[in-house]
Amino acid sequence: MMRTIQSLIDEKRASNKARRAIALEENVMDVYGRFPELAEIDRKIVEARRDRLVARFEEKDVTFDFLEKEGKELSERREKFIRDNGIDPDFDQERPVCGKCLDTGFVKTAAGPKVCSCMKNELSECYELCGLGNFDTYTEKGLSMDHFGDTKGRSAQREKLLKLVMHMPPMNEKGVWIFSAPPQSGKTYLTVCIVKAAIRLGKSAAYVKADRLDELSPEDIGFIRQCEFLAIDDYSAEVTAGARRTNILNDILELRISNKAATVIVTPFAREETISGSDLRIAAKLSGAGDI
Ligand SMILES: [Zn+2]
Repeated sequence: MMRTIQSLIDEKRASNKARRAIALEENVMDVYGRFPELAEIDRKIVEARRDRLVARFEEKDVTFDFLEKEGKELSERREKFIRDNGIDPDFDQERPVCGKCLDTGFVKTAAGPKVCSCMKNELSECYELCGLGNFDTYTEKGLSMDHFGDTKGRSAQREKLLKLVMHMPPMNEKGVWIFSAPPQSGKTYLTVCIVKAAIRLGKSAAYVKADRLDELSPEDIGFIRQCEFLAIDDYSAEVTAGARRTNILNDILELRISNKAATVIVTPFAREETISGSDLRIAAKLSGAGDI
């Protein structure tokens, strides 16, 4: 089932939280085991704190003042003991499992928050679940900008697609965009990289081949209707020959156009040819699409 990267990160964060709590408890037990005197001081501090609360509640000011002084002395004793014995003063503090993102799962970059490297497994699981399972080797690093020597054109396409993902003007004015380029021009590679980039930026995103739309589960159709970025690859007018597939596509486009939800239709055919040969309802929707 398709999932958002956020939901996978949330699960990992919950397990990190448990890991932190266990590590903390083990650490405290270890220090107390080695320094029973410190355990005793801490026990007294907790007790004094509780007594202070009671005294305040019962408005026993003299007792409260006395307890407060006692508490202060205990704290000073504790600090000195920790210092004298070379104990890590943060031994009773929770420590993040990942120092880079402090277990938030995201690091700040110039382009905004990005999924942290500690969520590598969650990222690949998300890629897999969201339709990119067969594209492990399609990476931003391997992306050639020089297909047919058209570096400039390809860079411009990449730029537009990234702006679409980021919901930046002018790409946020329309929901649906047609990315038309000849066969073997690396459209799929570029598209896959953009979907991965969207997921790395924490967005819900999915990749689907147009002729597989009718093989998706109702849950996955629900997901691609709603996700923030959707790429429908290998679209051709022929895709709309099947009534069920056409209904699904029509439904998806209708919602995404009205929500201006970032959607790219990737096709090896020219725009006009793609539109005119399509089912009438789809053609009407595609005719308002922008061009990548
Ligand atoms: Zn991290």
